[in-house]
Amino acid sequence: MECEICGRKIEEDEVYYGDVGTPYERKPLCEECYFYDEPAATVFYGNDEIPYIITETLNETNGDFSIKWRSIDPWRGYYEVKSEKYTLVNTAELLAYHESEEMLKKFDKRIRDLFDEHGIDYARVFARSSNVFYQNYDLFVRKNQEALARKLIERAKMEVDYDNPKWYRNVIFDEDTLNKLGELFPERKIQTDYDAFALVKELGNKVVDEMKKRASVNNDYSRG
Ligand SMILES: [Zn+2]
Repeated sequence: MECEICGRKIEEDEVYYGDVGTPYERKPLCEECYFYDEPAATVFYGNDEIPYIITETLNETNGDFSIKWRSIDPWRGYYEVKSEKYTLVNTAELLAYHESEEMLKKFDKRIRDLFDEHGIDYARVFARSSNVFYQNYDLFVRKNQEALARKLIERAKMEVDYDNPKWYRNVIFDEDTLNKLGELFPERKIQTDYDAFALVKELGNKVVDEMKKRASVNNDYSRG
């Protein structure tokens, strides 16, 4: 038998099989390939501090959660986490060194307290992306507890000012660019990077021409 990853020959009694919910599920693997891989996702159940790791071959959640690589292009992508037992109720992007980090820490602490208080069975899942500065933070709750969980999430979000646009600025665009885009495209009400990104995506190559056109009109006004 051959290892599905490295192609090495493996003896019948030395074969490992990829765990359920991983890309190598039930595929024959050598010992090294089975055990040696970076975690794609880390799962924490409720207020248990023990991390349960999922790699491309190994799944310590016994299939409660499964992972799938989603590529954006050949160089970039992220791990999507799914579950049959739990429902995804919130997802956030954790950006290292970004000011939103502090707010998300507060949100994380608050929502765990609220979930514990109300007997919600939940899991927090941190999944890797191709960008070292960014990972997904997904909140899952037991099926049939979604309604109450969503209300508690709204409450925690209000308390930590989660929806304030200021947290979602300066990730892609710097402050000056955002302000300039906001001035040139007042009808778009540009507040966050997502707003600006949507504009650039929509106009594509035409965005620069449109900016020039609008900038010259603005200058005419200020001269006249
Ligand atoms: Zn191998």
